[in-house]
Amino acid sequence: MFEFDLGKAVAEVRKRKAKLVAVQIPEGMKTRLPAMLEKLEGKTGAEAFAFVDPCFGACGLKDVASKELGADLLIHFGHTKFVAKEAVETVYIPVEYNPDKRAVSRLAESLAEQMEKKGFKKIGLCSTIQFRQHLRIVEAEMKKRGFGVFVGKGRNVEKGQVLGCNYTSVKAIGKKIDAIAFVGDGLFHPIGLSFAVNKLVFLVDPIEKEVQELALQRDLFLRKRIAMIEKARQAKSFAIWVSTKKGQQRLALARNLKKKFEQRGKKAFVFTSNLLAPDYVLGIGVEAIVSTACPRIALDDSSLYGKPVINPAEARVVLGEKKLEDYEFEDLS
Ligand code: SF4
Repeated sequence: MFEFDLGKAVAEVRKRKAKLVAVQIPEGMKTRLPAMLEKLEGKTGAEAFAFVDPCFGACGLKDVASKELGADLLIHFGHTKFVAKEAVETVYIPVEYNPDKRAVSRLAESLAEQMEKKGFKKIGLCSTIQFRQHLRIVEAEMKKRGFGVFVGKGRNVEKGQVLGCNYTSVKAIGKKIDAIAFVGDGLFHPIGLSFAVNKLVFLVDPIEKEVQELALQRDLFLRKRIAMIEKARQAKSFAIWVSTKKGQQRLALARNLKKKFEQRGKKAFVFTSNLLAPDYVLGIGVEAIVSTACPRIALDDSSLYGKPVINPAEARVVLGEKKLEDYEFEDLS
């Protein structure tokens, strides 16, 4: 179960003597908002309000809007600091998945067995912030079993933390390890990892309670992306999308890509919005989309758009600047 530390939020509001508090919470937890706001107000005497725009990462931080609305404190649940300076005083409170220590130890045992079968001795570990406690347990268990364990420190992230747009903590240890294990759920991050370090990736999944090697999924993913790139090659017109979210405002890149498409006789237009959603492009008559925003849009959600959606690295293949063999996973770090 995902848990957030409301006690910490209460303490921070009291400590800072905040009067009007803005709150942000990850998408899947909104059902808990009324109870949370009620408690926060009841225990601090401050007034609180919550943003309900979808929030998938700290790139969606609402510091500017909080300031404009007159809040003197923003409490951002779920993610870690992403920007150098916020427009309003901001407290980050990660949301974490409570570990079942025994179950995680069993996962580590299974990881160790799979490593041994491959003859691997050195493992790199990483996770999203939601599973950092699980990572520590796996780290201790693997060390206990005699493996060399490496947990890297990347740029603008905690030790061992990865984001879908930032794998620097893994790149930092890439040369020292035989394989890498991602502790968490879903395929998006571990597939990204497999391109970031080009090592065998294991998914240690505390929710499904299984450990799996992802070589096949990586191949399948690559085949899908190649098909998407081939479709985009046939397109005569492109929307190049720029998100206004933090860390994603890649207008210079979009303008550059537009020029290159035009030089090759294609039509290209730059569009911008905060969130990129299929509805937004329904009526826009282009044949393909280049998303310069969060990598997840092109890689996880592209089937929802009814037209090819590629990222800038893939656009370079379409433009003939890069070969398919040098496929790269888009990384905004
Ligand atoms: S850009 Fe995407 S992967 Fe990066 S922090 Fe935002 S939601 Fe997460």
